[in-house]
Amino acid sequence: MDLQMGMKRTVTRHERFMASLVRNKNVQRTRPVIAGIDQMALLENVEIVRKRIGQRGLCAVLKGDAYGHGIDIVAPEIIRFCSHVAVVDNQEIEAVRRIDENIPLIRLRVGSEGEISDAAKADWRVREMAASFNKIEEIGKIYSHFGQTADIHLSLDAAGLGRNGFSIRDPYSLDALMRTILTIPNTRVASVGCHLPDAGSAVPYHSADPSTRALNGFVATVKWILQIFVDHGLPLPEISSYSSSSSCAFGEHDPVAVLGLPMFDRIGSSLLGLTSSNRHGELGTGQVLHAGTFVCDVTHREHGETVGYEHSYKIEDPEGKDIAILGVGWLTLSRYQQGLGKTTTPAHCMTPSGDIHEFLGRQSMNISTVSARSRDGRDLRPGEFIYLTTDFGPDEYSPTIPRVAKWMGGVQHEFVSTAFGASSSTSRFLF
Ligand SMILES: *Cc1c(COP(=O)(O)O)cnc(C)c1O
Repeated sequence: MDLQMGMKRTVTRHERFMASLVRNKNVQRTRPVIAGIDQMALLENVEIVRKRIGQRGLCAVLKGDAYGHGIDIVAPEIIRFCSHVAVVDNQEIEAVRRIDENIPLIRLRVGSEGEISDAAKADWRVREMAASFNKIEEIGKIYSHFGQTADIHLSLDAAGLGRNGFSIRDPYSLDALMRTILTIPNTRVASVGCHLPDAGSAVPYHSADPSTRALNGFVATVKWILQIFVDHGLPLPEISSYSSSSSCAFGEHDPVAVLGLPMFDRIGSSLLGLTSSNRHGELGTGQVLHAGTFVCDVTHREHGETVGYEHSYKIEDPEGKDIAILGVGWLTLSRYQQGLGKTTTPAHCMTPSGDIHEFLGRQSMNISTVSARSRDGRDLRPGEFIYLTTDFGPDEYSPTIPRVAKWMGGVQHEFVSTAFGASSSTSRFLF
């Protein structure tokens, strides 16, 4: 990409964030973490994903409150580009239904009896994931109580995840099972899917690759199952075989296309720009969440004094050092996990003008200590805003979510976005 254009776009986003922060009545400046959800990045990401998946439907996975971005903020922006939405908890189902009464909505986890029953009662028409005969029977009974038919998302454990899916090891017993399942009253199999957990590092079409093998097994099994649908004169289901990273891997020549059924891809993290470090990461997507805080105070410590738990940082400068105090625990954010974050890994945050400030010493749950002087010699002042995570800036130093995830000890990117976006300390806003 044209670097200058990239910089211009970045500057505009900075400016949009800061302008919105000042004007936006939804921003609670009394909260220590301010998280901006970038509308433009979100829409660009959706466009990139849509282009890649071509004819297949786009199922936006918004579980975990849209990975901490806020389902109430993200869903209204993108729902018109989606064929399906997938969530997990009933609160999320309700949030989606408030925005769109009719879009096909999938619970991407086997529900508990209570959850399923509440969803049926509320008439949310959620497609329930099921992976056992007993569960489908239970769902059928619950729905018969309300005089309705439940849509089922039938999950096949093609990749050996051992949780959300029928084992497909033994096709003979599976055949018998399927013939019974398709006759359970008050149920209708609306889609068949599998989940490929290794796909981020997949080598497409390589016969030894676990995702390729899983996908081949899935296609073979679905072919088998389809015959049972035909035998019973039932309408054929939709097919969904991907997670976001796997569809990156298998995108162009689609081995599932041979089935000739409507397909949809379940995309979560790519829509939010969280997959950049995957081998098959969604190229060109941008981080949607940008979180920062206002500097609470700046204090001075002399040469030889220490900063942080266990005297983890010792001041070597003869003149001493100014320490900026942030009202956010960089590592843990949660107010309830005192002492969890212990790392002293070099890490930094960044001002809107791109100045880099190092974290000093071990951080606390709700206070961070950073060098008030930036790498370029500029001094932070109390009240200034500083980004804890953003991909703003053409800068190789911007504290992106993948980078922060590494500093936090190699956690998942979704953990970082949730910690910053959905903490009780956070005020979120769309900009
Ligand atoms: C979370 C999830 C997805 C989406 O995964 P991302 O990597 O966030 O895109 C897809 N399918 C299933 C079954 C999931 O649980």
